Amino acid sequence: MATIGINIATGSLQQAEIIAGIDLGTTNSLVAVIHPDTREPVVLKEFDGSALVPSVIHFGAGDQISVGEQAREYLVKEPQQTIFSVKRLMGKSYQDVKDHASFFTYKVIDDNTDSLVKVQAGDKFYSPVELSSFILKELKTRAEHILKTPVNKAVITVPAYFNDAQRQATRDAGKLAGLDVLRIVNEPTAASLAYGLGMRKDEAKTVAVFDLGGGTFDISVLRIAGGIFEVLSTNGDTYLGGDDFDRAILRHWTGATDETAAERFSSKSELQDFRLKAEEAKKHLSFNDYFETEIGGKKFSLDKSTFESLAAPLVEKTVDCCKAALSDAGLGIDEIDEVIMVGGSTRIPLVKQTVGKFFNKKVNDTLNPDEVVALGAAVQADILAGNNKDFLLLDITPLSLGIETMGGLMDVLIPRNSKIPSGAGRQYTTQKDGQSSIRISVYQGERDLVRDNRKLAEFNLTGIPGMPAGFPKVEISFLVNADGILVVKAKELRSGVQQHIEVKPQYGLTDEQVEQMLFDSITHPKEDMAVRSITEARTEATIMLDTTERFITANAAYLEPAEIAETRSYMDKLVQLIQTGTKDEVQAGIEKLNEISKPYAERLMDQAIGKAMKGKRIE
Ligand code: ADP
Ligand code: MG
Repeated sequence: MATIGINIATGSLQQAEIIAGIDLGTTNSLVAVIHPDTREPVVLKEFDGSALVPSVIHFGAGDQISVGEQAREYLVKEPQQTIFSVKRLMGKSYQDVKDHASFFTYKVIDDNTDSLVKVQAGDKFYSPVELSSFILKELKTRAEHILKTPVNKAVITVPAYFNDAQRQATRDAGKLAGLDVLRIVNEPTAASLAYGLGMRKDEAKTVAVFDLGGGTFDISVLRIAGGIFEVLSTNGDTYLGGDDFDRAILRHWTGATDETAAERFSSKSELQDFRLKAEEAKKHLSFNDYFETEIGGKKFSLDKSTFESLAAPLVEKTVDCCKAALSDAGLGIDEIDEVIMVGGSTRIPLVKQTVGKFFNKKVNDTLNPDEVVALGAAVQADILAGNNKDFLLLDITPLSLGIETMGGLMDVLIPRNSKIPSGAGRQYTTQKDGQSSIRISVYQGERDLVRDNRKLAEFNLTGIPGMPAGFPKVEISFLVNADGILVVKAKELRSGVQQHIEVKPQYGLTDEQVEQMLFDSITHPKEDMAVRSITEARTEATIMLDTTERFITANAAYLEPAEIAETRSYMDKLVQLIQTGTKDEVQAGIEKLNEISKPYAERLMDQAIGKAMKGKRIE
């Protein structure tokens, strides 16, 4: 019996609200919910028992759009009209994906800018967000059909390495599909939750999540402690997955490579037949020793050991990624407490054995590997629904967030690995007299100079009333909400002018770049420190020059020409040092200029006070 309440005022029945857990995959997508009676997560299945919806969209004649198994049939027949792997395009610009342009059989628009990519199907253009929303809409409709109740809320999973742009895009896709996206959750976090890890507050574990799907491979190392999931490292290969195993079989049977396939086969549908049979063989050999089939009147066969010799080099690659992930996390193999298998391709016995051997541990494979992420999303949804009251699930920020300050330095407001939701604020001021606006540039990354980090957004706080430099108090606050989306607010406290933005990132970052950014921050700390101190010295010198210049101009009438000339000569020296000097030389130049100009300033100050006194009538 489902939990049903009666609204006493209206007499209508109220069912406990359903929050869907959605795994929006590169190859397959699916929905899971918490069963109202058993309180266990279950995957939603059609009458025929199928749960997976292929993440494929076909644009037919007219406005006919189909999603899933039906659309998949057009992959070879109408490649230009059939969109797959849209997840790879989420939050990306053409620049980001151009190296893999040949991978996409449909048209990805090259507008030669940093703006987000579009895909052309027929005479229409679609953003990856719209395309993903078609998949999500299909999932929502299916869920409503199966559950016989409206589904308006969801938790959607994304890879741990997804950056803000990609998370935001996923969230927008949900919104467009009519879903209120309560939370974006990392896939490895969801997989851990499905296995019940992290559900106890006193539990502390280090977990490796090995996810080999249809086209991508991810390995994530998580530290779970006190209900907090911290991503210690991620690695993988965004172009390695089940499809590569299928291709290896195809090549074994026909000798055709991707490049030669077009001429090798008499028709596209023949190629499609071969591809599907190759995948069938692969799946069959996960549970049997021998496969045999007929394609176009010819017999083809494959035994398990031959398949394993074809698969071995690909599996070896995943092991190399695991090694790199461990070394990035600074962990040894024996420090990993659990290894979790995720993704359809981990059904291959050779994969399980190889991974188990590498980690020297029995892997967690009791849950269905293509369902485990969705199941975990349902667990997370249940926690959000408040049904698991003493449990608060937290996530963390993958990279530091900050703003650009003088000299192009990164001022971090929210450090990497902060628990989210998380907020921080700091006060800044103007550099020039009468400055009426301040530009706020938001960056993400670990390096000391913003130019080595990634710019997320930029906006101007305008309308600051005229005040001397250093007078306005501009408070900048950052808030990362529970989905990992950043809201930046700026407020001038004296005048009350304020402005805020939700960070809609300007361009995407490839997975390799995120990793590279983390890696660089580890490998360049000395260099960064040196750059930071010289930059700080230069900034200080620039301010000093500016102040001195203003002083001389304002007080030219009260200074001797020789005094001005002497001051100017030291100013010129400092200008020179800013360009060529070391940090210590710049610092020394600042002090010299200070020494020279201080007595004049003091003298003028005395005179000014004297004048003011003279003007005052003392009675
Ligand atoms: P994604 O996360 O990329 O959407 P999935 O986790 O759904 O992908 O994995 C899909 C891949 O799993 C496909 O390449 C499919 O052929 C493969 N797969 C599914 N079942 C098996 C099996 N029994 N043996 C080997 N590979 C399998
Ligand atoms: Mg997946």
